[in-house]
Amino acid sequence: MGKELMSKLPKDNINKKEAEELKRALERFKVILRFSNIVLNTKNGKRMFNVVTKTWNPITGCTHLCRYCWAYKFVEMRLRKTSPKYRNGFKPALHEEEFNVKFNGGFVFVVDMGDMFCNGIPDRWIRKILNYIKKFPNTLFLLLTKNPIRYMDFLNEFPENVILGSTIETNRDNLYVKERISSAPLPSIRYKAMKEISWPMKFISIEPILDFDLEIFVKWIKDIEPFLIYVGYDNYNNRLPEPPVNKTLRLISILSEYALIIKRTIRPAWYERESITRYFYF
Ligand code: SF4
Repeated sequence: MGKELMSKLPKDNINKKEAEELKRALERFKVILRFSNIVLNTKNGKRMFNVVTKTWNPITGCTHLCRYCWAYKFVEMRLRKTSPKYRNGFKPALHEEEFNVKFNGGFVFVVDMGDMFCNGIPDRWIRKILNYIKKFPNTLFLLLTKNPIRYMDFLNEFPENVILGSTIETNRDNLYVKERISSAPLPSIRYKAMKEISWPMKFISIEPILDFDLEIFVKWIKDIEPFLIYVGYDNYNNRLPEPPVNKTLRLISILSEYALIIKRTIRPAWYERESITRYFYF
């Protein structure tokens, strides 16, 4: 991204389009600086592989039924029995007691135990959260959904300290359907919504990564203009249709020209690991 910005600076005469691009690049640079200042000034932030300093779950549950959802499994197999907060399992629920939590700086992931924009969450729950966030302007709040179309309904209400994020694991809708990955809106629908949304701090999570078409996927991400991207493989042995690791590394290398990349679990695809094991044992 720095290179992209610098290449535009030395020109004496720039046209309107170039001026617009330069303005946008500077805006993005300012966002990254702000993000870095807030996040790097925290204990966790110094470990850039995990910049989230806190999670906050005023809503839990989700209706998207992703086949790789660790939160669903954790809730249904353990928390439902042990925590009153999850007595209704993964059914969407609002937790009033969470509105006593105080924040002071850092980067807070809002609702990592569900999806606060899935169908089934009432607008008033979302508004309650957005209004609460407004009380902590020195903290950054990350919202993440697989239903970003719903962001459109709240564009005039988002506090300026929220990061609007969406998970887009692949560009391949057909793979998504064939492998029954999730009942969430298809990746292409999320892409179009995120591209359309005008917001200075956008985030894309490519996690768990699924196989993709390099050129198309890069174009999607560039069109969306996120300042921050997570990339990572599945951690829970779901045997998803993953890309080979070299392809993922290529994607990361290209995207790092445009945004801050946080590498999460990067490893050979499960079928690559199995073929390595076979090679050594037979
Ligand atoms: S959208 Fe997120 S919370 Fe909902 S089922 Fe999928 S992985 Fe789980």
